[in-house]
Amino acid sequence: MTTPRTPLIAGNWKMNGLQGDGRALASAVADFLKSQGAANFEMLVCPPFTLISAVHDALAGSGVKLGAQDCSTAAKGAHTGDISTDMLADAGCTYVLVGHSERRTDHRETDELVNAKAVAAHTSGLNAVICIGETEAERDGGKTLDVVKSQIAGSVPGSATAANTVVAYEPVWAIGTGRTPTIDEVQDVHAFIRSELAAKLGQDVADGIRLLYGGSMNPGNASELLALGDVDGGLIGGASLKPEDFAAIATSCPA
Ligand code: PEP
Repeated sequence: MTTPRTPLIAGNWKMNGLQGDGRALASAVADFLKSQGAANFEMLVCPPFTLISAVHDALAGSGVKLGAQDCSTAAKGAHTGDISTDMLADAGCTYVLVGHSERRTDHRETDELVNAKAVAAHTSGLNAVICIGETEAERDGGKTLDVVKSQIAGSVPGSATAANTVVAYEPVWAIGTGRTPTIDEVQDVHAFIRSELAAKLGQDVADGIRLLYGGSMNPGNASELLALGDVDGGLIGGASLKPEDFAAIATSCPA
């Protein structure tokens, strides 16, 4: 039996915002979701660590979910500058992004590390949003499916279930560039990701895991992306910093 997959509209604020900006943006998203009544989508915002507390307060009672952009694999102790998944849960987060391409590039994060971060998230009761996607050179070399296959094999842990894991497909060359794959390419890669998840975790689990598309999603292209059969939401960077654009993307989810 296929588990229904409620679309998830997730905002990755990256390294943007001071306290006042974070509060204002979170309040606008909260007000929007409250105005929707029984929405047919869920919303998630992932602010930088410094804004988590203020955003948590601003989102109270709205139903908008709170996530972090990264976590440590360690539970606690001598890891200067790191933040554990228990700390994130304690601060009110229910989601954490792991393996975003900017972490993979800037901090040389490997699939093995991303996998361990996802396990840490699961251990603390958090949902892991595991990010994968090919570079432009890999795409040009016809290696997209090979890269995605190997990232799923390496980054998605055996503890992944539909209740604790979301996979975000983000072609690296589409992030922040205004470029996107064609609609057919997005659907084909998402269908391939689901089949790889099925081979690894079983068909039922794979059918329930939400697959997000990320990479220059905006109000102009969201409707056709979100209508695809294996696209269950979006991971949105730039447009998530503009509350009206983020809201317009959310209302583009198919009824
Ligand atoms: C992202 O950073 O995850 C992202 C998809 O960014 P943008 O929407 O700006 O391309």
